[in-house]
Amino acid sequence: MSVVKGHPGEVMKKPSDTQRSFVVQLHQARRLHYDFRLEVGGVLKSWALPKGPSLDPTVKRLAVPVEDHELAYADFEGTIADGEYGAGTVMVWDRGNWVPEGAEGVTEALRRGELKFRLRGKKLKGSWVLIRASRLGWLLIKHRDRFASATDVTVTKPLSTLSGRSLAEIAAADQGRPDPRGPVGHRRGRR
Ligand code: MN
Repeated sequence: MSVVKGHPGEVMKKPSDTQRSFVVQLHQARRLHYDFRLEVGGVLKSWALPKGPSLDPTVKRLAVPVEDHELAYADFEGTIADGEYGAGTVMVWDRGNWVPEGAEGVTEALRRGELKFRLRGKKLKGSWVLIRASRLGWLLIKHRDRFASATDVTVTKPLSTLSGRSLAEIAAADQGRPDPRGPVGHRRGRR
């Protein structure tokens, strides 16, 4: 949040108005999956979505917590070399910003296991919730609003929102380059 010292009467930005970054990356690792990442406290909190996001409010998509990533990783698209963490091809499938819903702080909401938020991406928009369902798994669910749809957005909009490329085109263009901006912290997990 950039707070500029204002003159009396100037409208100041509140924390809840802060635009935070989000990205959904399609990741061809050993298994194809999506990585859903929300900017929280200076890092990208991350969940792996084996089936990707769904715009259908009746569909609950498993979201497995994985390592925090650096903010700069939100713009990474390319191929991570074999043997490196996250090896495989990465596409920036959707990109935008997000805002938390409700008065509760984001950190507290995550600790409690239920984070409601709005996405302002190119493909994913409107109101969503992440709910912790078990020790290992969360659920990502679309709320009912005008952006809800029975259409499978991963099928209708399969290309990179950054470059317009397919995963195969990214893989062909960028082979074996190590990713300089790896995950934050220890190398645990294989997502
Ligand atoms: Mn991944």
